[in-house]
Amino acid sequence: MFNKVLIANRGEIALRVLRACKELGIPTVAVHSTADEHAMHVRLADESVCIGPPASKDSYLNMHEILAACEITGADAIHPGYGFLSENAKFAEILEAHDITFIGPSAEHIRTMGDKIEAKVTAKRLGIPVVPGSDGGVSDPAEAKRVAAEIGYPVIIKAAAGGGGRGMKVAENEASLTHALQTAQSEAGAAFGDSSVYIEKYLGKPRHIEVQVMGDGKGGGIHLGERDCSLQRRHQKVWEEANSPALNTSQREKIGEICANAIKGMGYSGAGTIEFLYEGGEFYFIEMNTRLQVEHPITEAITGIDLVNEQIRVASGAGLSVTQQDVTFSGHAIECRINAEHPDTFVPSPGRISYYHPPGGLGVRVDSGVYQGYSIPPYYDSLIGKLIVHGRNRIECLMRLRRALDEFVVDGIETTLPLFRDLVQNKDIQDGNYDIHWLEHYLADKRA
Ligand code: ADP
Repeated sequence: MFNKVLIANRGEIALRVLRACKELGIPTVAVHSTADEHAMHVRLADESVCIGPPASKDSYLNMHEILAACEITGADAIHPGYGFLSENAKFAEILEAHDITFIGPSAEHIRTMGDKIEAKVTAKRLGIPVVPGSDGGVSDPAEAKRVAAEIGYPVIIKAAAGGGGRGMKVAENEASLTHALQTAQSEAGAAFGDSSVYIEKYLGKPRHIEVQVMGDGKGGGIHLGERDCSLQRRHQKVWEEANSPALNTSQREKIGEICANAIKGMGYSGAGTIEFLYEGGEFYFIEMNTRLQVEHPITEAITGIDLVNEQIRVASGAGLSVTQQDVTFSGHAIECRINAEHPDTFVPSPGRISYYHPPGGLGVRVDSGVYQGYSIPPYYDSLIGKLIVHGRNRIECLMRLRRALDEFVVDGIETTLPLFRDLVQNKDIQDGNYDIHWLEHYLADKRA
């Protein structure tokens, strides 16, 4: 096992990793910017190192400072959390060169899955169903027209280096295709420094369903079921459920097995998520995230398996503590992402929390780094906490969620809690009847 783990992140995820380390008896090092001096992850870690000014590029993305913090403290492993350096292949390589373990997959796997064209080719080769589309990148209008005619309109043009829902253009017909291609290429070039794009069939009303996988790095691997993350605003997940209300047991087992086999085929190491659009009973791969996801706690709730503990075990060479047979699903879980934002306009609302009272009781988990009197800095993303609720079935889970939301008090700033109090009462949500566009339509109707 490791002597000391440095957590290269902040907020709720830094705390999440810290908790797993404590339970494994591993000392922790927190790193922080000058804006995060009073953050909970700094208070709870065994040691802390200030790595720079508030801007992420000078602190949480500053590889040299993070490496120096490892050397000063003697940390022999780094957990990157999500975001920041978690999917940076170069960072993983630099750590390897310095004999520091990156708690995550190999640099090669991060790089392959980070390029969406290469990821899709790899997925297809490993037997994962993909969205029909171009076999690789598409550069000229004639080729684009040929591919689009073959798969049928509408089509979506996506950036190979895309992320965060940016760099995508839909073309309804041949007349709009050339323009869409050129716009997508120039936007991709400007946003990612790589103008490569590819084409796929545009699915009209899909759900977003993703499968959690874990590989032991030695050719072994398991799946831990799926999460339904269809409730999104601007391609950002807002509310997630495990399992998906849209799948039955045999569909779950089938897609799970496909994903577990792919992980084994790759020799993948650590936690990963294979993301699909799901429409008409079919799964279509869109991307793989080579890290821990924000919404991992709902999988933990229904499986009872600590995913961060497993990540650390695998990275240390101890292997997974569970086999596929040990993974069973119990009940239903829902996560609400609580942001420091106005619940109608989504304008960020940093500032001091004057009063804080999180909910508790059976089946309620709150992952958050905030506390009463804490000031949310304006420099980072606005996620301030996650409410995760577990029940023996979906109805019990929804009733418990409603109760927990009623108990939750965060004063002094605006939060998205009121949005969730509305959603939990909504008939479509209660029926599990929603696709990836549902929330945008709901919000548009509310504004009208
Ligand atoms: P990113 O890496 O930018 O998040 P993804 O490939 O994961 O990009 O896609 C993000 C979102 O864009 C999906 O959740 C879905 O809402 C939409 N999307 C992507 N591909 C398609 C497609 N072929 N048809 C319809 N919607 C799509």
